[in-house]
Amino acid sequence: MTSTNPSKTIGIIGGGQLGQMMAISAIYMGHKVIALDPAADCPASRVAEMIEAPYDDVDALSQLAERCDVLTYEFENVDADGLDAVVSEGQLPQGTDLLRISQNRIFEKDFLANEAGVTVAPYRVIASAQDLDGLDFSKKYVLKTATGGYDGHGQVVIKGPEDLAEAKALAETTNCVLEEFVAFDLEISVLISGNGQEFTVFPVQENQHRNNILSKTIVPARISDALAQKAQEMAQKIAQQLHLAGTLCVELFVAGDEILVNEIAPRPHNSGHYSIEACNFSQFDTHILGVLGAPLPEIELLRPAVMLNVLGQDMAAAQAFCTQNPSAHLHLYGKLEAKDNRKMGHVTVLTDKPDSCNL
Ligand code: AMP
Repeated sequence: MTSTNPSKTIGIIGGGQLGQMMAISAIYMGHKVIALDPAADCPASRVAEMIEAPYDDVDALSQLAERCDVLTYEFENVDADGLDAVVSEGQLPQGTDLLRISQNRIFEKDFLANEAGVTVAPYRVIASAQDLDGLDFSKKYVLKTATGGYDGHGQVVIKGPEDLAEAKALAETTNCVLEEFVAFDLEISVLISGNGQEFTVFPVQENQHRNNILSKTIVPARISDALAQKAQEMAQKIAQQLHLAGTLCVELFVAGDEILVNEIAPRPHNSGHYSIEACNFSQFDTHILGVLGAPLPEIELLRPAVMLNVLGQDMAAAQAFCTQNPSAHLHLYGKLEAKDNRKMGHVTVLTDKPDSCNL
């Protein structure tokens, strides 16, 4: 009698907390995981075999590809050309097009506005400092570098002529995108997972930031059903256009009755960590199922939830919070040094009283 072994070897490029939580999902489904990361003691090293190498080391990527059935990435700044050079047909279900789109805000805006056909803030490409001449200062803007920006880095808010010099200095260094400033009521995000053919969408998440870093996620987002449905439909349009495999996060602004897409992340996202406890399947479970081309479950939110990020400076507060709230789920990623603003872990509380949960 023959039997088919369903266990696969999954290679994850990047061994941070997202790689670690993907690996945990994969492992309890019976798969083996190898993670590639320059740091031998990265979070994924606690649960996966490691290849210790820079992300753009083509020999190391090639070794990973040879040893794994399927490859995935935990963040978008992976060398797309290097990956294309080493993967075999079908081995990287997320593809490198999605990487290229999410690595460059010019491609990303063009894809969102013109290919996926979703609403984004009015924008234009800024190729030199002179392109900022003659701005209409009756509006405010955000200038963002096309590549390399994250958590508000590589951005200048232009509220008036007094901000022009700083903006021009940024525009002189690299190509940028100039967006109209959106006076949003709320920031939300929607996770969607695909298996190349069908999709499953998560409930809408409400996100609060501190110093441009995600601080708190509340689910379900406190918006009308009609707006929530609109946000989920936008995520579906994007996923369809991408033939999405794995999990993608769409970040959006809610401004009155309008919803605008801000950006996409081609992977599980910090705002989706609550799904580990609050949903029937987590964003990491559906990511693994999706990249393996398995059928996807319909997602149910089992309980309303709040996720609080634990940054380096929040470690003591998080311990105290969990001592006072024994039903809170504390996740620590195993990072050795608690630096300021470094994401050390998160806390999930299953509650419908989000305002009472704070670190
Ligand atoms: P991003 O790197 O594009 O996610 O931007 C970081 C943060 O800056 C967002 O979470 C928003 O709070 C803010 N932001 C970005 N773009 C805009 C915009 N066009 N209007 C207003 N706020 C923005």
